[in-house]
Amino acid sequence: MKKQLKIALVAHDHRKADMVDWAVYNAEMLSKHKLICTGTTGTLIKSAFDERGINVEIDCMNSGPMGGDAEIAALVVRKQIDLAVFLIDDLNPQPHEADIQMLLRQCRVHNVPIACNRYSADLMITSTLWDDENYVPSEPRYIKFERK
Ligand code: PGA
Repeated sequence: MKKQLKIALVAHDHRKADMVDWAVYNAEMLSKHKLICTGTTGTLIKSAFDERGINVEIDCMNSGPMGGDAEIAALVVRKQIDLAVFLIDDLNPQPHEADIQMLLRQCRVHNVPIACNRYSADLMITSTLWDDENYVPSEPRYIKFERK
């Protein structure tokens, strides 16, 4: 991929093992992009990359429950995120559920691709559309359906 992407990475506590495995599996590809992470997710990815001698640009926000998801949502609103990988713990309640829903909603509103499992994330980061200059993503339309 030629384009340098700004990729947001967020994983809940019980999903961090998967996130670190995913990041290490895709380390070579990810090292060409800029990563923006919630606090603990970013720290874990950085140390996994450091252990393997992989250099990657990582910006760490606050920890999720302290507003990290909200900070990333604000970057989405400002069009400063190209892709988000958000590994949500769907089996346990989270104290910052409101922020989680906000991040998901802002990605939908601003048409930012968001992967909520590793399979989707793999498909998204390997898409050839990133470098297709003729491809223009269609924006969501909020209109009433009218039968023609
Ligand atoms: P964390 O935040 O990476 O700081 O743990 C993730 C979250 O819980 O949303």
